[in-house]
Amino acid sequence: MRPQVIFLGAPGSGKGTQASRLVEGLGYSHISTGDLLRKEMAKKSALGNRVSTIINEGKLVDDQTVLDLLKANCDLVKNQYIFDGFPRNEEQAKMLDGQILGNHKSKVFYFDIDLGDLAERLINRRTCKDCGQIYNMLSRPPKSAGVCDVCGGKNLIQRRDDDAATVKNRLKVFEDTIGPMLSYYKKKGNLVTLDATKDVEQLYGALKNNL
Ligand code: AMP
Repeated sequence: MRPQVIFLGAPGSGKGTQASRLVEGLGYSHISTGDLLRKEMAKKSALGNRVSTIINEGKLVDDQTVLDLLKANCDLVKNQYIFDGFPRNEEQAKMLDGQILGNHKSKVFYFDIDLGDLAERLINRRTCKDCGQIYNMLSRPPKSAGVCDVCGGKNLIQRRDDDAATVKNRLKVFEDTIGPMLSYYKKKGNLVTLDATKDVEQLYGALKNNL
């Protein structure tokens, strides 16, 4: 039985792309708290309306709200997950272990990359609204402009929080919170650090070898 997987890494470090590969290749289920929150915003639910300003400013939503949303959307008896975007701080790491993972085996992958390289990556990121495929207009653009290589959809969108000012806040929040999380998992002994500057295939190989 493969472990439950936790992805840690700055916004734009390649977690979403690798999650898609693991879903395709090994049958994992991808659960992204950012996606769950954006869905609530799109539905204009009470929760979505409450968190939209926080998200659009690049700040963190409170721990309990995100934990409850995560709990309501995962079933560890049936699925093996990639947790992407949760935890975001040490408190959430403890919540994930104590209230969701319990006795399930887990492996944590840290996508290590210089934060200085990421702002440009994020500002140039586009996502297919139909299938979620991620592109970078500089390094990995779609083969045909504006059209998704995977599903042919014509809705390649920029996330609202991928604008320059919000990106700066999100990277700062990451920088302030990553240290204690890494220490927590280092102590626990289930942390693998990946060189996130490697290309998609190399990174996927390293991930699979460590599962
Ligand atoms: P992401 O798609 O993971 O970059 O998340 C987008 C935004 O959603 C973040 O900038 C936060 O505002 C919010 N968010 C996502 N996951 C969490 C979390 N675990 N805790 C708090 N806020 C979160």
